[in-house]
Amino acid sequence: MTSRDGFQWTPSDGLKQGVPSIGVISPPRKIQTDKPWDVIVVGSGYSGLTAARDMCVAGLRVLLVEARDRIGGRSWSSNIEGYPFEMGGLGVHWHQPHVWREISRYQMRGELESSFDFSRGVNHFELRTDHGVTTMSHEEEDNLLATALEKFVNVDGNMCRTLIPFPHAGFHNPEARKYDRMSVLDRLNEISQTLTPNERASVESFILLCSCGALETTSLFEFLHWWALGGYNYQGCMDCLISYKFKGGQSSFAIKFFNEAMSSGNLSYAFNSPVKSIHDEGEQVTLTTRDGRIYTASRLISTIPLNVLSDVEFNPPLDQNRAQATKIGHVNQCVKVHAEISNKDMRSWTGITYPFNKLTYAIGDGTTPAGNTHVVCFGGYFNHIQPEEDIDATKSAVTSMAPGKMDIQRLVFHNWSKDQFAKGAWFFSPPRLLSDSLDALRQRHGNILFANSDWAIGWRSFIDGAIEEGTRVAFTLKEELRPTGSSLRSQ
Ligand code: FAD
Repeated sequence: MTSRDGFQWTPSDGLKQGVPSIGVISPPRKIQTDKPWDVIVVGSGYSGLTAARDMCVAGLRVLLVEARDRIGGRSWSSNIEGYPFEMGGLGVHWHQPHVWREISRYQMRGELESSFDFSRGVNHFELRTDHGVTTMSHEEEDNLLATALEKFVNVDGNMCRTLIPFPHAGFHNPEARKYDRMSVLDRLNEISQTLTPNERASVESFILLCSCGALETTSLFEFLHWWALGGYNYQGCMDCLISYKFKGGQSSFAIKFFNEAMSSGNLSYAFNSPVKSIHDEGEQVTLTTRDGRIYTASRLISTIPLNVLSDVEFNPPLDQNRAQATKIGHVNQCVKVHAEISNKDMRSWTGITYPFNKLTYAIGDGTTPAGNTHVVCFGGYFNHIQPEEDIDATKSAVTSMAPGKMDIQRLVFHNWSKDQFAKGAWFFSPPRLLSDSLDALRQRHGNILFANSDWAIGWRSFIDGAIEEGTRVAFTLKEELRPTGSSLRSQ
């Protein structure tokens, strides 16, 4: 099945919108009950899928309403000639507790593979900056980045262990709030004398790879929080962020949640159904879609992401603090472009091209069925491009990552900035947003609960955070809607 989402370019076919994915749901609408629903879940990303599955399995009747034609939200894989290009979220790791619980549940431990393969080919890292080109081994790459990042994060003289002793309770030490009022640029200005030009370029490009915002709009705390989650070191961050993926792609994972919910017999769903308004009437919640369909249930879970929450009308209106946070939004405008190139030796290549190129960080990420190398490239708000609007500029940004070595056979991407149901990629906080609004974003609003990775506590911004959030709200409603004197079927 082909999703409307995503783009593909090849020399023979040019640019085409829509790519095949195993996450597309057909038929798009299925109503399994004539009784009223207990809960409506809006959104079928990992937050919504987890919440819907947990409640269905516990015996609640659930309606899942999704704007797109597919599951997965910001994590989905296209399946092109049998190869899964990851359009959004990719990396998973055993240090991510909620993800790992689900990988174990679905017995997918053997389905992971490493993005990196340094066993053959060029086997080096290229750093292109205003100061020239440096080619080095991957060990030297790791040393450069680790040294630069350690200087950057060491705000407490203890690599953040004192500042953020419990990464799954980021503000446990109240001192951490001070760093949420600072930007990454503020910190760079403090330590600029200690960084060599290559260290400065490396640390800036790495942080921008994480936030895909600008240095001045990236919360210092949030970056330190990622560092703490990654085990307070560079290698741990790399392992958790970008090293391990599903052989079958993210959609092969997401579909397990959906199928389990379906097999309970308690899930109804409506895809291609963007929500227009949500009205909490006290006794029940009424949802109206843009095409005029009306659904009601006792409770509603919204998993709509922060940057598009204000596009839905809530009645009663959202409280002031939450509404203010949605206006500010997160800063991540990641551009992720997959390139299939004929150069097999590039499988073991990594590179940073900064600050002059429109894409800044890239790695050899796989080998396609045609035997070509799959390189994944990242850019962001800084030097931002809309890849489908000028495909020649996009190709030029890819080839500039390693001039002369990128013979492009195919490009695949999803423009998250222009996506009306995301308006950005993974959450990354600007200064103050978290300290001012994280608690408000997690509050319920009468019969409406809000779950999204964007306001998770632990691996916020990650698939793990989405599963954390879906689990939280499902648990609340399973307890709340348990019939008096009886118990819901437990998982
Ligand atoms: P979403 O996935 O955004 O789900 C929300 C759902 O709500 C969507 O399906 C959306 O269509 C739907 N929706 C929105 N508005 C409406 C409406 N009006 N009506 C009906 N439905 C609506 N995470 C990792 O762990 N590892 C990674 O390597 C990683 N890399 C990433 C790379 C990219 C390019 C992107 C974009 C994300 C990446 N992430 C990664 C982050 C991860 O994908 C997200 O944090 C996670 O998928 C969010 O899940 P969610 O369910 O909370 O939100």
